[in-house]
Amino acid sequence: MISIKQVTDYLEGIAPLSYQESYDNAGLICGDSSTEVKGILICLDSTEAVIDEAIRHNCNLVIAHHPIIFSGIKKLNGKNYIERTIIKAIKNDIAIYAAHTNLDNVRHGVNKMIADRLGLINCRILAPKRNLLKKLVTFCPVNDAEKVRKAMFDAGGGHIGNYDECSFNTEGTGTFRGDENTNPYVGKKGEQHHEKETRIEIIFESLLESRIVSSMIKAHPYEEIAYDIYPIDNFYSHIGSGMIGDLQKPMKEKDFLLLLKEKMGTACIRHTPVTGNDISKVAVCGGSGSFLLPDAIRQEADVLVTSDFKYHQFFDADGKIVIADIGHYESEQFTKQLFLDLLKRNFSTFALRLSEVVTNPINYI
Ligand SMILES: [Zn+2]
Repeated sequence: MISIKQVTDYLEGIAPLSYQESYDNAGLICGDSSTEVKGILICLDSTEAVIDEAIRHNCNLVIAHHPIIFSGIKKLNGKNYIERTIIKAIKNDIAIYAAHTNLDNVRHGVNKMIADRLGLINCRILAPKRNLLKKLVTFCPVNDAEKVRKAMFDAGGGHIGNYDECSFNTEGTGTFRGDENTNPYVGKKGEQHHEKETRIEIIFESLLESRIVSSMIKAHPYEEIAYDIYPIDNFYSHIGSGMIGDLQKPMKEKDFLLLLKEKMGTACIRHTPVTGNDISKVAVCGGSGSFLLPDAIRQEADVLVTSDFKYHQFFDADGKIVIADIGHYESEQFTKQLFLDLLKRNFSTFALRLSEVVTNPINYI
């Protein structure tokens, strides 16, 4: 039996909830996480029509990109579409789960999906986040350094960009004296001991802290282990908003916009005046990405592909970049396929369906 928790734990291993933005509400919105999964319906918006679709297809877990509940609900009596959706889901034993900005902010998430559709290469996060990394320093006998380092690497420490097993090592002398209750690995209790030690420094993702520390402690030969954990202020290149990459060959602006229209299946692109330069560097952000305009300009993107630009914000392109607003739903529609691909990789015992309901509330005529 596969429980809802097993499915959500798997997704959170890829897009941890701690990577969502502060205003967001990703996670299990309703439902009992210990319930067995009978079938999963994947959608962008878990609307009432989607819950009806889940009932029809005997799916008891709806996985959505947008959380149906954003702010607090104080009463639940079916007065609006949010309350009606939640009531219908609960009455029919359907759980709703959302992976939203946490899935936007990871390297292989929503924005990578868009970058791949446009054939971008050399992709990196457009606006990486800070305060997600820490440094661990520990000291161990020189001969044990390899084993201790490996334990920390195996637990996920020491990743920088596309490199892993990164560490810095210096040799020096450690001193210690154990009291009568000790059983020192080297030296004698009650006597000061000098030991040639290696100082090992590694960087790690804060959320892996307990795993890395316990792995280090297990591998470390000392009875009492000296280690320091420092918060660091670096940007973390793996996590953040938007993505930037290069086209394989520069394109004329008009040709790029037509390609964009075709690849993103959008009926209409709202864009700023073309600049006359070819497009080679492309910034993308699924959903509302107007806040990334300064980052895209700073990193010399020729175009920013996103949605939800307001009239006055279009002026901010100021001849430095082309803003291409492709529509919110259109920019995120392939997120369903992303969920499907991720789930297929790990689960095969229950049905996985893509919702056929078009939940886009915006129509074009
Ligand atoms: Zn969105």
